[in-house]
This record gives sequence, structure tokens and C-alpha cells, in this order.
Amino acid sequence: ESKKNGKNCVTEFNEEIRHKLERTMLLEQGFEHAFEQEEFYVLYQPKVNVKSGSLEGVEALMRWTHPSVGPVSPVEFIPIMEEKGMIHSVGRWVLKEACRQWVRWIGEGKEPIVMGVNISPLQFSREDFIPSVQEVLDETGMDPNYLELELTESSAMKCEADVIVILDRLREMGIKISLDDFGTGYSSFRYLKALPVEILKIDRSFLEDFEGNEEQEAIVRSMITLGHNLNMKVLVEGVEDAYQMDWLKREGCDLIQGFYLSRPDTAEAISARWMNIAAVSN
Ligand code: C2E
Ligand code: MG
Ligand code: MG
Ligand code: MG
Repeated sequence: ESKKNGKNCVTEFNEEIRHKLERTMLLEQGFEHAFEQEEFYVLYQPKVNVKSGSLEGVEALMRWTHPSVGPVSPVEFIPIMEEKGMIHSVGRWVLKEACRQWVRWIGEGKEPIVMGVNISPLQFSREDFIPSVQEVLDETGMDPNYLELELTESSAMKCEADVIVILDRLREMGIKISLDDFGTGYSSFRYLKALPVEILKIDRSFLEDFEGNEEQEAIVRSMITLGHNLNMKVLVEGVEDAYQMDWLKREGCDLIQGFYLSRPDTAEAISARWMNIAAVSN
């Protein structure tokens, strides 16, 4: 009996691995034509000032619709792109796409907002990263003062000295840096203090099971205080209901992002629902 169960487990395990490998292979093959078939696109999710309720910026989030598999999550395809060495060209494409969109909005007379773009640690640690960002700025006409690069906490904490040099250089260019998924990595407070980062993005896992959970509340409250004490703005991601939003407002959080405000959406939809026309000067 038990032997039989054991064997079933092994068979199921093998099946699972086989499926996973097959899917990875299918996705890898899919990458080959994805660009020319225009299967990649970018959605934008608002970052909202909690106090005023107004749009402060957006985060560009990559999407892929595979012709036979359907929509694939970036949580699944980004790691495969990283492993395949594709993340550099794809990451550059997302950055360029986001900058182009920003310039398009300005061209439509919209008030400028901050454009956030996620950067893989692999992109960040390659020698040509800064020149490639500069190239995209030049090619698109993006104003670097409105560009924000989102770097995960864990990647910022690696290879310490280099990271600080690169971040300083980006800051000299006018670019803002945010620390993404904060609270999920390992941070030394001493190092955090040394990081030239403007925005702390608290990971959405801290809002799970939130209402009435005093421990969760204590943790988020502490992180907001920590960010402010280090002269950073604090954004909490994953806001899904009014309770969380009101609580964060009371606690002095600066920015929020989440499904309660808006899911990631097309540039057109974001612009129609959230954006103001810039006041005409002189
Ligand atoms: P992230 O940068 O932390 O992005 C936030 C993720 O949380 C997004 O998932 C967003 O759709 C989701 N989200 C936002 N608000 C809520 C909410 O209220 N509830 C819930 N349950 N989820 C919410 P998405 O778009 O699937 O992206 C997942 C991750 O994939 C991103 O996490 C980021 O690490 C990575 N990613 C996405 N686009 C890119 C990209 O262009 N380049 C790189 N390197 N990574 C990317
Ligand atoms: Mg992000
Ligand atoms: Mg995040
Ligand atoms: Mg996250």
C-alpha cells in the first residue's frame, strides 16, 4: 500500500517536472517571434498621492500574450528571460516604450507625471547599463527628472559599493530610484542609510490579512517611520480596499498603488481616467 503511494508520488513528481520543462521550452520558443508579432506590450498602474488623491506617477508593467498559451505573467517569463540573457534587450525595450509613452502624453498636453520602470538586477549590474539608459533618454526625448527606476531590495543589497556608484550616477542624471518589494529581502539598516534611494516601496504582502491585524499594522507603521526617518517617500503597494487606504492615509504614508485605485491598464485608459491637462504657461 505505502509502496504504491510512494511510487505514485514519484510519478506525479516526474509529471510535474516534465510539464514545467515543456512549458518553459514552449515559452522560450515563443520569445523568438514575440517581438515581430507584437505580442509584448506595456500596461501602466497609477501611483496615487494618498492625501490629495491625485495621480503622481505610473508604473510600467510588461505583458505578454503568447499566441497559443495566452497571457503569461511576468513573474513567470522575466526569470526565463534573465536566464536566457534576453532581459537586457527586453528591459531596454520596456524602458524605451515607457519613455515614448511619457513623451506622447506630454505631446497631448498632459501634466507631467513620474514614469516608473522595473529594472532587473542583471540589467543593472551590466557595464553598459548607464549608457543604455542615456541612449533611451536621447532617442525618446524623455525628461530624466520624471523617470524613476524600480530596483528590488534584494538586488540593491548585492555587490554593495558598485550599486551605490551606479545609483549616484543615475541620480546625477536626474533619475529617481525606488526600492521595490521592500521588506521581503534582507536589508541591513546601515546599508539602507547609505543607499541613495528616494522612495521605499513596501511590498504588498504586508497588506495581506491586514484589517484588525495589529501585528501587520505595527510592521507597516514601523516601515513608514523608517522610510521617513531616512528622508525617503514611502509608497505601499497592493492596496485592495478602503480600510487599507484610509489607514495608510492616517499613518502618513505618501503614495499608494493597488487594485482598489486601479489595476494596470492601457495608456489610453489611464490618461482618460486619471490625467489632467497641463495649465498653459505664459
Ligand atoms: P512589482 O514591480 O512589485 O509590481 C507590482 C505587481 O503587483 C504587479 O504585478 C501588479 O499588477 C501587482 N499589483 C498591483 N496592485 C495590486 C493589488 O492591489 N493586489 C495584487 N494582488 N496585486 C497587485 P505584475 O504586473 O504581474 O508584475 C509582477 C512582477 O513582475 C513585478 O513586481 C516585477 O517584479 C516584474 N515585472 C513586471 N514588468 C517588468 C518589467 O518590465 N521588467 C522587469 N525587470 N520586471 C518586471
Ligand atoms: Mg515594481
Ligand atoms: Mg513591488
Ligand atoms: Mg512585488
